[in-house]
Amino acid sequence: MDLGIKGKRAIVCASSKGLGRGVAEKLAEAGVDLTLNARTEETLRETASEIAGKYGVRVQIVAEDVTTEAGRQALLMAEPQPDILINNAGGPPAGFWSDWGEEEWLKAINNNMLTPILLMNAILPGMIERKWGRVVNITSGSVKSPIAQLGLSNAARSGLTGFVAGTARQVAKHGVIINNLLPGSHDTDRTKGFIERTATAKGISIAEARAEAHAENPTGRYGTAEEFGAAAAFLCSQYSGFIVGQNLLLDGGAFNSTLG
Ligand code: NAP
Repeated sequence: MDLGIKGKRAIVCASSKGLGRGVAEKLAEAGVDLTLNARTEETLRETASEIAGKYGVRVQIVAEDVTTEAGRQALLMAEPQPDILINNAGGPPAGFWSDWGEEEWLKAINNNMLTPILLMNAILPGMIERKWGRVVNITSGSVKSPIAQLGLSNAARSGLTGFVAGTARQVAKHGVIINNLLPGSHDTDRTKGFIERTATAKGISIAEARAEAHAENPTGRYGTAEEFGAAAAFLCSQYSGFIVGQNLLLDGGAFNSTLG
C-alpha cells in the first residue's frame, strides 16, 4: 500500500533503537526523509546510515537529549518545517508510590508530558500554515490500564493524553492530525532489561523469564518494533485524516475488554 507520503519530512524523537527506530524504518520505507534523534551519537549514526542505505531516503541526525530545551532547539534548527512529528523519549523508572519526591515528579512530567507538548507547540503553527501535518505521540498502555509500579509514567503520560484530546480537535480542520499510540509489551532493549531483572529476582533463567512474560499475552509473544512502526506510519499517511485524537492500544489484546 502506498501511504502517499513520499518526499515528506519527519522528525522522529528517540529513534536510534526500539519503537522509535521501528517508526523511522517504516516512514523511510514510505519514502519519508528523516531527522533522527537520540543522545548516543555512535548508535544514532549507525542507525541513520543503515536506514539511509536500505531505503534511499535522506537521513540527518541530531544527537541531543530531547527532554532539554537545547536538545529541542537543535532538532528544530536541523528540521524547521517537518510534515511529521513522532514524539518519544525514554520512560521513567519503576518504583512504589511513596518513592518519588518533587524532583522525580518534575523530571517525569518534563520528559513524558512537557517535552512532547513543547515540540507540538513549536511545530503545529507551521503545519497549520501549510495545511498538512501528522503527529504521533508514543505513550504507553499504562495510560489506559495502570501499571502500579510505573506511577510516574501512568500520571505524566495521562497529562499528555489530556492535552492531545483537546488540541487534536482544534487543529484537525487545518489538515493537522494528532494521535497517540499506546504500546503494550514490545521486544526492545527496555523490556529486555525488565526480563533480566525478573529472572534475577525469581532465580530463573532469562529464557524462562521471557517465556513466562510472553505466555501472559493473548498472542503468546511480545510485539515487534516493526509492527509498531507500521501502525505509526499509517497514522502519518494520507489516509489517516479522519482519525483524530485517538489512543490506539498495541498490546496483543493484553488489556481485557469487550469494547476498546
Ligand atoms: P528503548 O528500546 O530503550 O529505546 C529508547 C530510544 O530512545 C533509544 O534510541 C534511546 O537512545 C532514545 N532516548 C531515550 N531517552 C532519550 C532522550 N532523553 N533524548 C533522546 N533520545 C532518547 O525503548 P523503547 O522500548 O523503544 O521505548 C520507547 C518509549 O515507549 C519509552 O518511553 C517507553 O517507556 C515506552 N514504552 C515502551 C514499551 C515497550 O514494551 N517497549 C511499552 C510501553 C511503553 P539514547 O539512549 O542513546 O538516547
